Amino acid sequence: MKGRSVLPLREGVSPAHAPLLRLLAEGRGAELSPDPVAFPHRYPDPRDAEAAAFLAASFAFGGVLQIRRFLSRLFDLLSPSPYAALTAAKPVGRRPVAGLSHRFISSEGVYRFLRCVRAGYIEHGSLERLYVAGMEGDAPDLRRDLARFLGSLRDRWGEDLGRERDFLFPRPERGSACKRHNLFLRWVVRGPDGIDLGLWRAVSPRDLIVPLDTHMARLGSDLGLTRRKTPDWRMAEEITGSLRLACPEDPVKFDYPLTRLGILGVCTASRRGVCGRCPVAPLCSRRSRIPR
Ligand code: SF4
Repeated sequence: MKGRSVLPLREGVSPAHAPLLRLLAEGRGAELSPDPVAFPHRYPDPRDAEAAAFLAASFAFGGVLQIRRFLSRLFDLLSPSPYAALTAAKPVGRRPVAGLSHRFISSEGVYRFLRCVRAGYIEHGSLERLYVAGMEGDAPDLRRDLARFLGSLRDRWGEDLGRERDFLFPRPERGSACKRHNLFLRWVVRGPDGIDLGLWRAVSPRDLIVPLDTHMARLGSDLGLTRRKTPDWRMAEEITGSLRLACPEDPVKFDYPLTRLGILGVCTASRRGVCGRCPVAPLCSRRSRIPR
C-alpha cells in the first residue's frame, strides 16, 4: 500500500515544493564518502556492484567509521570480485571469516549471512532474479516483494543465532521499516546518477519506499511529512507518500540529500545559526524553536 500524504503540499508543481527541490539541487554532486554506497561504486562489473550493494547495505548500521572499517575488511576478504567469491565452486569458509564481526553480529553470523547470499546467487544467478521470483507475476507491492526476497534468503540460515538472522534479514510484513533493505533497493533501482547505481529494471523508482533511519524519522516529523510517532514501515510509507506529491515518478530521490543534512551534521537541530542557510527551513517546524 502506498502511503497517504500528510505534507502541507499539493499535488503537481507548487511553490511549496521549492525547498525540497532546492535541497535536491544543492545535494547533487556531493561527496559519496562517508556513505557506504561508496563501496559498490568501486566495482565496474554490475554483478559485483549488485553483490557489494547488498553486503554494504546489510551492514550499514552503527558508527560511520565502524561501518567503513568492517566493510573494508569484508571486501578485502572477497577481493577482487565479490560476485566471484560468493559464487565460486569453493565457498568462503569459516576460517577466513573468523574474527570478522560487526557490533552484535558475530563472525559466525557473518559467515552464515554470506552462505545465505551465496545460496541465493547459486539458485537464481542474481539478486534481481531472486527478487523477481518472489513477485510471481503479481502487480508490484514493495512490502510484499521485499518480504518474500528477504524470507527466501533467511530460510537458508540454519539453526541458532536467531537474533542475528532476524536483524540481517528483517520482516517488513511485521512492521519493520527495513531501512537497510530499502536503502539497498534505492541504490540498485534509482539512477545511475553518481550516487545510486541504477542496476535493476524489475522495480520502478516510483514504487520505492524511503529508507527510514533516525535522521529521516526526525526530519519527516519536523518537515510535516508524517504525523506518525513510531519509526516503522507505516511511517516510511507516509513520508514516501508526502514526497510523492513533489515527485510522483521518483519520490525517494529526496532521501539522500535529506539524510545528509543529519549525517554530515548540517542539521543538529540545536546549533545556533544553521537554519538560516538550510534549504528546507521554510517547511521546518523546528526552525522557529531554535534561537538565532
Ligand atoms: S531548518 Fe534547521 S532544524 Fe530544520 S532541517 Fe534545517 S537545519 Fe535542521
